[in-house]
Amino acid sequence: MTVALALFSGGLDSILACRVVAAQGIRVKAVKFVTPFFGYDLLAREAEYVAWVKKTYDIDLMLHDVSAPYLAMLADPPHGYGKNFNPCIDCKILLLRAARELMDKCKASFLISGEVLGQRPMSQRQDTLRLIARESGCEDLLVRPLCAKTQEPTPVELAGLVDRERLLAFRGRGRQPQMALAKSFGISEYPMPAGGCVLTEQAQAGRIAWYYGRKWPVNVSDMLLLLFGRHFQLPHGGWLSLGRDQAENERIAALHEGRGYLLGMEERPGPLALLRYSEHPEDLAAAAALVVRYGKKVKEGSPAATVKLSSEAGEQRLTAEPLADEIFQGWYL
Ligand code: SF4
Repeated sequence: MTVALALFSGGLDSILACRVVAAQGIRVKAVKFVTPFFGYDLLAREAEYVAWVKKTYDIDLMLHDVSAPYLAMLADPPHGYGKNFNPCIDCKILLLRAARELMDKCKASFLISGEVLGQRPMSQRQDTLRLIARESGCEDLLVRPLCAKTQEPTPVELAGLVDRERLLAFRGRGRQPQMALAKSFGISEYPMPAGGCVLTEQAQAGRIAWYYGRKWPVNVSDMLLLLFGRHFQLPHGGWLSLGRDQAENERIAALHEGRGYLLGMEERPGPLALLRYSEHPEDLAAAAALVVRYGKKVKEGSPAATVKLSSEAGEQRLTAEPLADEIFQGWYL
């Protein structure tokens, strides 16, 4: 039986691309690539998610973590960034290359992706669809079932591995044809189209771009930390992340991993915070004063408090007054 390996984002187009090819009697295996910017939380509940995809869409899925090559690419994507810090063209090239490397293991004869001509401004124009296929080295291997008939027949179609007549000619930004097709497959539960991953979102992308500008050793833990909470650049170069609620405090504690200082008040409720990339005493003092500033107010306002700083070297305590707002307005990231 012919096997195809599909790139699965979880969006409707990727679901339909799998189903259109599977409807020809081809065995479709799907891979969802994850990075800190998309899908990373699924790694913690992989079996549950894979089972849900099978039950909901009848698609056999696996997850594959490509964080390391992705973070390296993001420093300097050869085709540049989109409106924010999104390297959409190089993102697609990287994921296709990663899929190509998995083909042998999956015994796949070709690759599927769910792109639709003209649906996205940067990565789904006619010229970029060609460029992505060519530069990923997948020109002879890739089929885009939803828009195949808007393209020249691919080597996979010409070889008869897939029946071009049963592929589609979707184009443009409209969603009606996809919704009708989903209905014909009995698929009613699917995510609404989103604008893109967090790298397209102004505030988060801006922080990630700031981080890359620091030339620190880029790592997954820092990326995950940048995606929630409050962030400050301290006067001596330190980076402080501060939780806004209990759930964020727990995530900050879990991401400490012995790197930098974990700060929190012992006397009254307040945020946990993580200081990285500075040992400067003035940054430690500023970090402690910010923790007190964002601590729970008491009747008298926000009195001085003792802040515990935990690091691999041990614990220390600093007594700090809440930092005045006018001092740190320019520190926000
Ligand atoms: S929006 Fe994000 S996940 Fe989608 S192609 Fe662009 S960089 Fe990749």
